[in-house]
Order: sequence, then structure tokens, then C-alpha cells
Amino acid sequence: MAVHIVEEANRCLGCKRAFCQIKGCPVSTPIPQVITLFRERRIDEAGALLFENNPMSAVCALVCNHMDQCEGNCIRGRKDSPVHFSSIEQYVSATYLERARWERPEANGTSVAVIGSGPAGITAAIKLAQRGCAVTVFEQRPEIGGVLEYGIPAFRLPKEPIRKYRSIMCALGVRVRPSTTIGGALTIDDLKRDGYDAVFVATGTWRARKLDIPGEARGNVIFGIDYLVDPAGFAIGRDVAVIGAGNVAMDVARTALRQGARRVTVYARSRHVSASADEVEYARLDGAELVFGKAIEAIDGQGPVFRTAVFDEEGNVVGYEEGLDHAACDTVVIAASQLPKDKLVLTTEGLSTNDRGLLKVDESSMTSVPGVFAAGDVVNGPMTVVHAVAGAKRAVDGIVAYLGLGKSS
Ligand SMILES: Cc1cc2nc3c(=O)[nH]c(=O)nc-3n(C[C@H](O)[C@H](O)[C@H](O)COP(=O)(O)OP(=O)(O)OC[C@H]3O[C@@H](n4cnc5c(N)ncnc54)[C@H](O)[C@@H]3O)c2cc1C
Repeated sequence: MAVHIVEEANRCLGCKRAFCQIKGCPVSTPIPQVITLFRERRIDEAGALLFENNPMSAVCALVCNHMDQCEGNCIRGRKDSPVHFSSIEQYVSATYLERARWERPEANGTSVAVIGSGPAGITAAIKLAQRGCAVTVFEQRPEIGGVLEYGIPAFRLPKEPIRKYRSIMCALGVRVRPSTTIGGALTIDDLKRDGYDAVFVATGTWRARKLDIPGEARGNVIFGIDYLVDPAGFAIGRDVAVIGAGNVAMDVARTALRQGARRVTVYARSRHVSASADEVEYARLDGAELVFGKAIEAIDGQGPVFRTAVFDEEGNVVGYEEGLDHAACDTVVIAASQLPKDKLVLTTEGLSTNDRGLLKVDESSMTSVPGVFAAGDVVNGPMTVVHAVAGAKRAVDGIVAYLGLGKSS
């Protein structure tokens, strides 16, 4: 039965020290206040509060790991089930996106280039435009949204809200240049030459992490993040092996099953699965099988070749069985994390990275190049939507201070 959000809101204790907000939420969503407004039927005000704090609230309501965050920290959950805030947030924020009207703010005379239109880029573009900056978003793909559009499958995240963000940005005066890669024909130096006062880099992590094993370049192998961009573009066959046990691997498994694969097996090196418990459960419900203790050694024309782990009683890997295990399948999908692409670093003098290729930033989110700021996965490595929003908000504060516009709202 669907969650009845009015009943859920009435279960909220309105805690003075609301752990759901202060401990559970990386952007400190004012949950008790939102629920109070909701109970009083002041939906527009509740929506405005959510949007102001987190423009991606409509997305976070659907894709955050709520049991690790707000709902996992709800006092009600200690003896009973926690208040299902995500359902309330989904209703309020979706309603707000439909109803709210945006107007172009008065210009403050500064301009900012935003590179990348994932959650970090959209958040920064909206917040800077609301401050009166002239914002241009450069996006290498035809559509905005980053992972929201080209990674998370539509059965988990409908794409309508993302279209809505495009029209909100448009109403606020943000110019979007799709299908334009910075670090390709245009570089950050070109952006500076053309008068942008600051640049915000939010390019994410779109290079699959290789396993560095023989066979990775074979025709029967795909990288998970490439597959999810356009699953229909790959002929995966009936039997698919997924290497890796994170959330991306679960999305790959579930997508492959929807694409017609009859057997999908997810192979994990140990008993540890980095995907959230919910995502694992859904993958199993959809029909994926999880096999633990398989360390991949190579991929041949038939499929992956594994060493099989030996576990102790606590489930730690303590060694490997003799011999190799060949698993026959049509397609092997590698989903073993992501790294940033290096286009911007190769074309921008002085842009420093750490040993994983992630951009280094100071406490104001400025990179090693003055006036160039960064946040989201390109700084943190693969994280979550809400962490990208939190980083973008900090970077907006840094940009606002750099531009001499006073304190950010
Ligand atoms: C398959 C998958 C499932 C996920 N599921 C969840 C989930 O359920 N919940 C959750 O919270 N998080 C999830 N995440 C993680 C989350 O989506 C990311 O942490 C988040 O999208 C990062 O936001 P971002 O704005 O930093 O980068 P991205 O979303 O990666 O956006 C970066 C954008 O920059 C563009 N770009 C890159 N280089 C250039 C360039 N040189 N010039 C112009 N444009 C460029 C890209 O095309 C992209 O649009 C998932 C990630 C993946 C891959």
C-alpha cells in the first residue's frame, strides 16, 4: 500500500534537536519546518523552503539513501518505523516545481561560466542566477542533468523533473550551451578571454575505472557507465555478468534484465557490497543473482575468469582456492567505480589534481587556478546527488565572495 503522507506528517514529533536534519542530511534540510508547513497546508511555502535549501530536492526525494540519512536518524524509528519524509518531500517539491513561477532577477553585472549540468552545475547555475549573475552552462551532452539524465535509469528516476530544471534555468536567464565540451574546441582560457568573471567546474567522473586485467578491451566487454548512457545501443545477449557490487552495478543489472537478458549475475570480490541494501534488494527482486568471493583475473572470449575466495567465519577473505573458475556469458559489464576525465586538466595550465585525477580545491572551493571553482564528483570522487548539491552551495558562497557580491543567501 502506498504511504499516506498526511498520516506520516502527523507522526512527526517536531523534535527541537531534529537528528533527521542536523545529523542525517548533508544539506541540513529543515525537515521539522517543512512538515509543519505541510500540516498547515502551506504547500507553496514548504516547497519554497525545500527549493531554497536544495534546488535538487525533487530528485533527492527519489534517489537519496534515506535510511542512511534523514529517515535513519528519525527518533520515531527507534521503536517504530521512521517518518517517511522522502514521500512528503517528493510530493511537496514536485508540486512546487509545477506551480512556482520564476522571474529573471536584476543583473549584478558579473558573469559566470558553469561547466557541466549535473546536480552540482544545475544547483550553482540556479543559485548564481538568483543572485543576478549572468550564467552560461556548457554541457558536453545534448541534454542537461549529468548522471540524472545519462546514468540513473528512468525506472528509478523519471526524467520529467530534469526537463523542468531546464525551464527554470531559462526563466532565470541562464543560457545553456548543450553539446559543447570545454577542453575540446573551447578551453577555460577562452572563457576567461570572453569575459566570464568566474568559472565553476562540475564535470563529474565519467571515465570508467579500468581493472587492468587482460581482456578488458574485448568486444564482449562494456563499462557500466557507458552502458547506462544508452543501453539500447549495446547488444548484450541473454546472459550477462556484472563485475562490481556498488549502486552502478545494481543499476546495470536491473537495466540489463529490462533489456531482455535472461540471466544476470553480479560478481563481488568479497562479502562486502558497497551498494545500498535497498538497491541490492531491488536487484534481487528483479531477478539478478549475487555471487560473492569472485576476484576477476581476466576476461576471455567466453566470459570472466575468476579466482574464488576462501572466507573465514567472520566473512573475511583469507585466501583463494586452487585453479580458476570460468563463467560463460554473452557480455561482461565492468562497474568498478569512475574517475574524472582529464580534458580540462590537459588544456588548463596550473589546474592541480590529486593522484586520482580529482580537482584540488581550497576552503572556498577555488581550484589552483584563480577564479576557477569546482565541486561535486570531480572534487569528491563518485558520491551522491545530495553531496554534489552541498558542494555546489559551498562553491557558490566562494564565487559570490570572489566576485565581491557579499554573503551568499
Ligand atoms: C549509475 C549511477 C547511479 C547513481 N545513483 C545514485 C543514487 O541513486 N542516489 C544518489 O544520490 N547518487 C547516485 N549516483 C551518484 C550521483 O548521481 C553523482 O554523485 C552526482 O550526479 C554527481 O553530480 P555532479 O554534478 O558532480 O556530476 P555529474 O552528474 O556527473 O554531471 C557532470 C556533467 O558534466 C558534463 N561534462 C563533463 N565534462 C565536461 C566538459 N569537459 N565540458 C562540458 N560538460 C562536461 C557531463 O556530461 C555531465 O552532464 C549515481 C551515479 C551513477 C553513475
